[in-house]
Amino acid sequence: MNELVKKLVAGKIGFHDVQKFTTAAEAVEVRRAALEQLTKTKLEHTGKYTIDLGIATNRNIDNPIGVAQIPVGIAGPLKINGEYAKGSFYVPLATTEGALVASVSRGIRAITTSGGCDVRILQEGMTRAPLFKVKSLSEATKLRDWVNTNFYKLKELMEQDRFLKLKMVQPFIVGRHVFLRFVCDTGDAMGMNMITIGLERVVEFVEKENKGARCIALSGNMCTDKKPSAANFILGRGRSVSADVVIPKAVVAKVLKTTPKQIVETNYGKNFIGSARAGTLGGFNAHVANPIAALYIACGQDPAQIMNSAMAITSAEEEKDGVYFSILMPSIESGALGGGTNLPTQKEALQVMGCYGPGNPPGSNARKFAEIACATALAGEVSLISALAAGHLARAHDRLGRGKG
Ligand code: NAP
Repeated sequence: MNELVKKLVAGKIGFHDVQKFTTAAEAVEVRRAALEQLTKTKLEHTGKYTIDLGIATNRNIDNPIGVAQIPVGIAGPLKINGEYAKGSFYVPLATTEGALVASVSRGIRAITTSGGCDVRILQEGMTRAPLFKVKSLSEATKLRDWVNTNFYKLKELMEQDRFLKLKMVQPFIVGRHVFLRFVCDTGDAMGMNMITIGLERVVEFVEKENKGARCIALSGNMCTDKKPSAANFILGRGRSVSADVVIPKAVVAKVLKTTPKQIVETNYGKNFIGSARAGTLGGFNAHVANPIAALYIACGQDPAQIMNSAMAITSAEEEKDGVYFSILMPSIESGALGGGTNLPTQKEALQVMGCYGPGNPPGSNARKFAEIACATALAGEVSLISALAAGHLARAHDRLGRGKG
């Protein structure tokens, strides 16, 4: 081991080369020891963990040296009347933002006291859009027509994974560039891996049958993965989920310390006028990215997909004896298995909510998770909009000693 550390420090081998000479688990120690020498930094905490980094190497992480620890807080019970999430749930949130779990907890208390929120999945379909270049615009329309005619052949080629089902292909043409947006069911997986693998044979077939068509990017950004996009906001990606709740006036007064009228005024001014003036893309909400980021990190979701998953519209309307809140999240990209969900703490977090692993029927655990995510986001909205309406935000941060966010 010492020899390898010396070689690394001297630059004779790279971080990735270490595992050619040791087990993956030993390679972690070697890299960390070398990095400590190279940067004169003691990595005491980075080196303490229970994860088997030998198993995680390459599957979840390259060149591992240890772990980054993020505190996990718990919010709940959150009462959800969904189609897949039915009952009361404790929601794990991993964050370094003080007051976030407290704020979501307050929104949850208001929702649960009001009898829970309804949640429905409006549509689902994970997407990947390879980009083909052809000779001209007329060739582009020919390719589009060919795809429509050959849909069932493409479906057969695509469905290599037993959980992958091609639902439709949405073509988009820009001059001689043709984007084919493949929309799929992916069971309980978020699905990016299985779709990408399935597409390899499809792309080969498209090129073979359409002379002059060349795939210049397997992902052509009309997917759209990891960038907020109007395409996802309008067409949906992953699961489009909505939740609503009526919070009685008495609960608004007792738990949220404000009035329905003040909530409606604040929500309209901030989430609609403010967001319109700012030209936001999918940001007609107060802070959905906050609870979604914390939930995704706790539960082993791909954090880069918060970009689209946190797009949302939050509305608040006055009722005869309370306030009606709703949220629409058109692009929740998440899974109950695969990716980071197998890591031990992430798996435990999913288990706390009863949605780890394959569901019965397939897809039901991922749908349950998406419904919980949407309900949790709604709780965050209820709380923050109410805090702003009551002028409590700065005071709450001060009281919790965390500055003004
Ligand atoms: P995955 O990690 O590939 O796992 C999916 C596999 O789980 C399936 O192929 C299936 O394999 C098994 N499975 C068992 N029960 C299932 C069920 N009920 N529903 C669905 N699958 C079931 O998952 P993924 O979501 O496709 O990929 C996620 C990973 O891809 C993440 O790590 C993500 O960061 C990464 N990613 C990849 C790309 C890319 O372009 N390649 C892009 C973005 C993200 P068996 O049939 O063999 O059991």
